[in-house]
Parts: sequence; C-alpha cells; structure tokens
Amino acid sequence: MQHYTFAETPADTAITSMENQFAQERPRLVRFCAYFTGAPSAAEDLAQETLLEAWRNLHKFTSHEQPDGLSKWLLAIARNVCLRWKRAQQRESAHIASYAPYAMEDGELEEVADHAFDLEVELERDELARLLDHALSLLPPETRSVLIERYIHESPHADIAQRLGLSTDTLEKRLYRGKLALRRVLLVDLAAETSSFELADQDRDVSTRIWCPMCNRAQLKQYRKLSSGRIGFHCPSCWHIASYYDHTLWAGLRNPKAILNRQIEALGRYYHQAIYTLHTTCYCCQDHASVRIVQPDELPPQMHASTGICITGTQCGHQAFNTLPHLTLDIPETGQFWRKHPRMYWLPAQEIEHGGIPTLVSSFQSADTAARLDILFERATLKVLGIYEA
Ligand SMILES: [Zn+2]
Ligand SMILES: [Zn+2]
Repeated sequence: MQHYTFAETPADTAITSMENQFAQERPRLVRFCAYFTGAPSAAEDLAQETLLEAWRNLHKFTSHEQPDGLSKWLLAIARNVCLRWKRAQQRESAHIASYAPYAMEDGELEEVADHAFDLEVELERDELARLLDHALSLLPPETRSVLIERYIHESPHADIAQRLGLSTDTLEKRLYRGKLALRRVLLVDLAAETSSFELADQDRDVSTRIWCPMCNRAQLKQYRKLSSGRIGFHCPSCWHIASYYDHTLWAGLRNPKAILNRQIEALGRYYHQAIYTLHTTCYCCQDHASVRIVQPDELPPQMHASTGICITGTQCGHQAFNTLPHLTLDIPETGQFWRKHPRMYWLPAQEIEHGGIPTLVSSFQSADTAARLDILFERATLKVLGIYEA
C-alpha cells in the first residue's frame, strides 16, 4: 500500500487562512443581512451568497494591508447581495402582489409586465445567459435575435435597430413582446429549470376556509414564498388580500385566519399611522419613506379604482400603493364586524358631504343579514371621521 503526503504550498496556506477569516466573518454577515433586509429567515442564505461571491472575486480584493480591509469588503458585497434580494422581493408590496400568476390572464400580464418584470434585475447575467440558451430555441427567430443582442451582447438600442434594419419604435415593441414571450417560456416550458430562481419562487397554494371579505365569491388561498418564508393570502376571484414581510409576527400560529388577522392588524397599524403622520418607513428597506394620498387615476391600472395611498422609499424609490377597500379592511372595527359576519363583501365607496367636508363612505355588507359597517374617510386625507354599524 502506498502512502502519499502532500506538502502544503504557500498558496494552499493562503487559502486556508482566507477560509478561516471567512468563517470568522460569517456571524457578523448574518447579523448584517438580517438587519439590512429585515428578514432574519433569509439572512443565513444571503451571508452564504456573500461569501461565495467574495470567494469568486477574491482576485479583486486589494485592501489586504488595512486592518478592517476584509470586513469592509465583505460588507460591501453583502450590501449588494441584499439589495439584489430586496429588489426581487419588493415587487410584492403590502397588499398587492405585482405579479400574481394565479390571478392573471395573458392580457392582464401584459399590463403589469412593464414594471413587474425586469429581466436584468431578476436574474444574474450568467444565470440569464444559461436560461436564455435553453429558452431561445423555443422562441421565434426574430424575437430571439433582439433578445440576444440586447441581453447577451448588451448592445444599445440604437445599434441593434441599425443592425437589424428596424426603427427604434419597432425595436422597442419587439423587445417588449420578446420579454413577455420569454417570461412565458421561462415560467411554463422550463418550470423545472427555473425553479431555483425567484421567478418560480412560489409554493403551491393552500386552500383555506376563509371567505374573501372583499367579494364573498371564493375562499382565500394561502401561499408561501420559498425563499423568504413570507406568507400571503389571495382571492382566486378578485385580488391579493394581504402579505407581510416579518414572519415573527405569526410565530407559533398555524391557523390561516389567525395568521391573516395578525397580518391585517400589522398592515393597519402601518398604513393608518402613515395616513396620520404622513411619514413612515419603507416597506422594502425600512428606510424613511414619504406618504401621499392619491386619486384613482394615479393608481396602477390593475388596482381597484379608488382613492388610495402611495408610500415612496426616500432612498430606494420603491412605491407601495394601497387602496380604500384594503384600508377599510385594516381597521380594527372591521375586524370585529368580520368576526360576527364571516360572509361579507365590500361596497364601492360613496361620496358624500359630512359636516361640510368631502367624505368617502366605505362599507362592508354582511352577506347573511342586513348588517352593514360604514366607515367615513375624509376624502383629501383618508383620515377616519366616523364608524357606524347599521
Ligand atoms: Zn375576492
Ligand atoms: Zn425601500
């Protein structure tokens, strides 16, 4: 039997020492990622991702001499990893899943695709290249060529238009259609392939026995995001109902209605505090955010046409919208009414004068009895003026 011994080369020693330093930095990175994203459940993975990225880019690390050089470098990478993760997350605002494959037909998908689907943001370039390689063979040739030029060669629009003999306008349209087609291919035809990416980060819906409080036409589905552990609820018949980023909120709870109640209470505190103080923290990055009351024509087209609120992150620019039906559902008195009347539905808001003030009456109607809950909002500010049960 032969025995081999391996002498450690200086390079091996350097690698071992780097591995040790990485291991020492790890707990700090986990804490940073948890703090920076507000998602402790994702922090381990994000720290791991940071270390992998650092490892791949070790040749770019130049601050060996500085005492905190490595820590600072790793934190900078962690910050980027977290920002990338949050960009993927922020497409879901509090009540509105901006891309909800379960609730949309093709036409509706196209309406939201513009802001909801950003290829460059959603996939890293090499992941994208690999997927495109598979997906492109499934697309028509003319669509394929514009996508390759734009996303693989990263050519400017003007160059592509010239090379393919297209007007810029035609190119824009073709790129847009190409992105939609690609998304469909990625989601449907290559589901297995994309399952490790955010695109398909959706556990199967679970049925609940909770009747939709908005339309009373269907029972809510509960979904869970695999990457973040985020739980949310949507109605197969109308729209998204609620989701919340901080899973500690429902720790220990299993009953869907109990979880949903916790989420609605927290969302109510968040939105109504914002309405009263006109400033708050951003839903995605927890940084400062400004608050504006918006009219129906300013809301994204797929939302309820009603007065609403827009919360804009000062640093990140992320916008979260919420509308009157949800702001009404979030009020504690509505929660009490809902407990008494498990089958109820929202009535479109009426505009009235109340003590000389333009007022919106937003109501929930019991489906089984004549009971109705009217909540009066000052139209200009969405402050609650009164709550009446009839
Ligand atoms: Zn519904
Ligand atoms: Zn933000």
